Amino acid sequence: MPAELIDGKAIAASIRDEVAHDVATLTARGVVPGLTVVLVGDDGASATYVGAKEKASVAAGMAGSTLRYPAGITQEELLRVLSRLNADPTVHGILVQMPLPKHIDPDTIIRHIVPEKDVDGFHPVNVGKLLIGHTDGFVSCTPAGVIELLTRSGVETRGADAVIVGRSNIVGKPMAALLVQARAGGDATVTVCHSRSRDLGAHTRRADILIVAAGRANMITGDMIKAGAVVIDVGMNHVPDATRAKGTRLVGDVHFDSAVHVASKITPVPGGVGPMTIAMLLRNTVRAARQASGISTR
Ligand code: NDP
Repeated sequence: MPAELIDGKAIAASIRDEVAHDVATLTARGVVPGLTVVLVGDDGASATYVGAKEKASVAAGMAGSTLRYPAGITQEELLRVLSRLNADPTVHGILVQMPLPKHIDPDTIIRHIVPEKDVDGFHPVNVGKLLIGHTDGFVSCTPAGVIELLTRSGVETRGADAVIVGRSNIVGKPMAALLVQARAGGDATVTVCHSRSRDLGAHTRRADILIVAAGRANMITGDMIKAGAVVIDVGMNHVPDATRAKGTRLVGDVHFDSAVHVASKITPVPGGVGPMTIAMLLRNTVRAARQASGISTR
């Protein structure tokens, strides 16, 4: 029997409904949650992501705005923009779209955002809180979204062997930190694989929960998956496809057609992890507004 699909679109929609409810409660008390996205340069993909974030925040009832700067902006100028946003009480969440032009150091930029407004969860203070298990920080949106996909699909993480492929700071590492925490949605035994791992398949075949974030189209095939495993595909790869108007199509890091006959549950690409990332960004922003205002919405 083919695997059950984990419907990221539907789960993200219910999170966005919850966010809209919280936004309405806060707004009624005089606090409109505000997300400001900073976009530097004219990279087409970044502009698309930023547009989607602004649209989603406005749809949830938030004050969403995008500040656009030319690629030639200096690091000092950008730091001044962030200082202004840090001090602005109507801005609860700040997100600087990556990648930045080469002459700007992303770590300096991330460290300049006050942790209380770092709704991307990239600031070292928030990363540290995640690792320690403090829940008042912000967690990187994609791995936080994966935990929601698992828990809302009834997947038991406690005691499970979870294997993550990829060790980036935005997906793999925070994913491992979440799954290892001693709480619901955690308590897993976690293995993190990367390009230097010996015999990747030996690791992935042990996984009850396999999470793949490597950025390599179709790299995990059905024979690398344990029968009945839950498979979460974070990968987003544009591969050539002459049958599509754009000339490309989006595929994950998991070879879906072979994996779907081995796994018990699997996320599709598109429609799996992708929609969760923005939903979690909105949730982080509404929480930033709640924490800043001291107003409870529950
Ligand atoms: P990075 O390129 O930063 O990291 C990729 C990781 O995969 C690295 O740790 C790398 O190892 C590892 N890796 C690469 N090739 C192999 C291999 N052959 N075997 C084992 N490990 C390997 O990517 P990101 O984490 O930023 O993103 C990963 C994927 O997820 C991309 O496709 C990206 O587009 C997608 N993504 C999707 C999001 C969504 O909203 N759905 C959000 C963020 C990312 P090493 O460290 O040794 O180089």
